[in-house]
This record gives sequence, C-alpha cells and structure tokens, in this order.
Amino acid sequence: MSYIIKGETGDWEVVVGLEVHCEVISKAKLFSGAAVTFGAEPNTQVDFFDAGFPGMLPVLNHECVEQAIKTGFGLNATINKMSIFARKNYYYADLPNGYQISQSDHPIVSDGHIDVTLENGETKRIGIERMHIEQDAGKLIHDQHPSKSFVDLNRAGVALMEIVSRPDIRSPEEAGAYLRELRSIVRYIGSCDGNMDEGSMRCDVNVSVRHPGEPYGTRAEIKNVNSIRFVMQAIEYESKRQVEVLEEGGRIVQETRKFDSVKGITKTMRSKETAIDYRYFYDPDLIPLRLDDELIERLRKEMPELPAAKRERFIRDFGVTPYDAEQLVAEKDTAAYFERAAKGHDAKKVANYILGDLFAALNKLGKPITESPVSAENLGKMVDLIVDGTISTRIAKDVFQFMIDEGKDPETIVAEKGLKQVTDTGAIEKIVDEVLAANPDKVAEYKSGKDKLLGWFVGQTMRASKGKANPAMLNDLVKKKLSL
Ligand code: MN
Repeated sequence: MSYIIKGETGDWEVVVGLEVHCEVISKAKLFSGAAVTFGAEPNTQVDFFDAGFPGMLPVLNHECVEQAIKTGFGLNATINKMSIFARKNYYYADLPNGYQISQSDHPIVSDGHIDVTLENGETKRIGIERMHIEQDAGKLIHDQHPSKSFVDLNRAGVALMEIVSRPDIRSPEEAGAYLRELRSIVRYIGSCDGNMDEGSMRCDVNVSVRHPGEPYGTRAEIKNVNSIRFVMQAIEYESKRQVEVLEEGGRIVQETRKFDSVKGITKTMRSKETAIDYRYFYDPDLIPLRLDDELIERLRKEMPELPAAKRERFIRDFGVTPYDAEQLVAEKDTAAYFERAAKGHDAKKVANYILGDLFAALNKLGKPITESPVSAENLGKMVDLIVDGTISTRIAKDVFQFMIDEGKDPETIVAEKGLKQVTDTGAIEKIVDEVLAANPDKVAEYKSGKDKLLGWFVGQTMRASKGKANPAMLNDLVKKKLSL
C-alpha cells in the first residue's frame, strides 16, 4: 500500500532512511573491563579508560565483536574480515575523551537487507547499507540540583551497533514494520534487548519528500526518537511539513530536528551551517580488526532460527496466515508457546486463541506469556475439546476464563462445572418445545411472516440450555419446529 500525500502540485511520496543504535548485550564495555548493568548506582561502572584518564589504552572486547557478527548474519549482510576503528572528535561533558571510538569507512558489516511483512500481507525488502560498532557516551543529569548538572559515566564506553538502512522506506507503516522486525532479530540473537523505553535501542530518522520518479529531495534528520510509535508520528508530521514548505515555494534545508512527543511535532535543533566537522581519523591505539574464517563459521553455526525463517515454517507446517505468523514470531517466547500448543492440535484455532483471548487476558493480568496461567499444553487440549464437539465455541469462552482464573486443565473444568455441550437431539428438542410453548404470541407472529423472530427464538433456547446446546443442532431444531 503506498503512502501518498496529496498536494496542489500533485502527489508526493515520503523517502525514509533509519539509523538505529542498539546497545550490545555483553558483560563488559567495548574497550574496558567495566560492567554494564542497566540501572546501577551512578559512576559505579567506570574504568579509568571510560573516564578519560591520560595514558589509558583501549582493549577490544571480543564478546562485543561476536555479537556484531551474529547481528550481521541476522541482517543478511556481508561480514567484513577487516574493519577499522576511527575517532569521531567532538567535545561534550558526557564524553571525557573528547572523541568517540567508532568505525567510519571500514565498518564490520555492510550490504544487508531485511524483509518485513505489511498489514496487507505484502512483503517489502529494506536494504541495510552498513552496521558498525562504536562506544556509547555517558549521561548528563539536569534535574538533581537547581544550578548544577551531574554526569553519570556508567554508559560511557558501552558497545553500540549502529545499523544504517538504505532510503528504501516509503511510509510510517513500513518504518514501524522495519523497527519491529529489527527488534525481533536482535532479541532472537540475544545481541540487544531492544527496549526502546530504556534507551537500549534508539532511532534517528532521515525524512525527505519528492514527486514519485523524481530524484531524492533534501532530507531532515530527526534525532533520538525513542519509540516505534513516535518514529511513525515523526515521519507523518515531518513529511507533511516538508510538502507544505515546498508547495509554498520554499525549500528544505538540510538540518537536524527533534521530535516533541507531547505535541507530536518536529522542531529545528541545528542547521547544516552549524554542523560539526568530526575530523575522523583512524584510532592510532587500535590495530585494524581482522576476523578469521574459523570464527565467522563457528558463529554462523551458532545462529538460532530467526523470525523470518520461523514465520515461513509456521505458515508451511501449521497453515497459519502470514499476518498471524508475523504476530506469533515477533517475540521468541510467544513463538515457543505457540509451537508447544499447536503440536498435534488444530494450529489455526490455537493461533486464534493466543492472539485473541490469551493476549487480552495476559494484558489484563500484566503477565508475560511465560507466566501464563493457561499452559500451552492445556490450550491445545481445550482446542481439541472444541474440535471433537465436547464444548461449543461459545462455551469455550467460559472454559477459557475458568482456565485463566483457576489454572486447571480444560477437562477438569468441563467436568467440574458441567459445561459439556448437549448434542442429544431429544434433550435439545425438549428445550425448544418448552420455549415455543411459553411464547405462543411470538410463534404466531413468526408464522404470519415475521422471519426476523427466528434469531430471537434461537437466543431464548440457547439461554434456556445455559449455553450448552450444540449451536448448529439447536438452530436446525428451532427452524424445524417453527415451520411445523
Ligand atoms: Mn552513532
């Protein structure tokens, strides 16, 4: 589905590229042995090197390199056997060294892509230009003192992977799908926890507009947007703003903007004229990073099944729709739960219950699927009871709720609460007769042509059976008895 902005000078399309910073899961920082636990007391996880003490040298943490290589596989990208660390020079109070060690023209990963599934079921391929590793900066804290700012260097030197997409994204929806897929991939691999609200995944959004077929327009970069929803809102606002400027005869200046999530708008931070020259140069304290084939092959073998492969397998082996498969694999734990619940049972029904009733119930309880009161095995059994006619879909709603509340298996609940479906024709007939006998006026109305009353009779009879009558049989019998 294309995302088009209608203007007075014709249709406009939006062109988006995303730069995502992912904090690497590791025991220590990229170039020092300091720990990296999130939420620790300020300045308790700082080595002399992280604090910029003179004479301290960086020592590369290979765990971070391995995480980057695995992530490169996840991005279907080329792992470069030689990459080079470079200094990106700028001064800021949360950067004690006065430079960030990053990678410039020789990144560790280049030329990849990920495929995302859109709401209409279509697949879109989004190119990845590169991924490099670099240090994170510390944090300034401005709200602890009326006139002073504090600095916390716990985050200084933590490894980041910066993943740069090609400008292949054409709508807020595609940007959202790309970020969800990316988050899913790094979580499956275990290279980043993907928590945008904790800042372990942060997104810079490059936005420009053009008439379809024209060359790319000038772009604005929206810095550090910290939720997928905000990224989508920022693109929507910024693209409309640019169209307005252009249609009024103005021009877009290349600039850095920030997103105001309260107002839902973007604002100028700095223009290109004041942009910093980072004076990149290769870091003389670090030799080029060379990877041997053995390491690359070992890591390739250690790769888990990734969301894309799992999605395909769920569609192929379990017959679920692409859209359901997308929802089921987004989180590793959901995928594992589905597989356990679906094995040997009606997988499509199992998928429906997970994505519908189970998600809603867990949401209400505020629990992750790993703590679900309904086990995967019990959900599978409940679906069996529906398939073999022991309970109706309607009664299943109640059975499911009892399973959530009491944690018991469905057979026990059906037996204890007497929820077995009535499929005995004689028993249902008796109830239908009673309902008709109690409402002679309605029967007369129906017979004089008021067909709509059929639904009313079905409802009354179902209620009289306490919801336990087999719906199809009940329907047939009501119809038959009314036409006598
Ligand atoms: Mn960066």
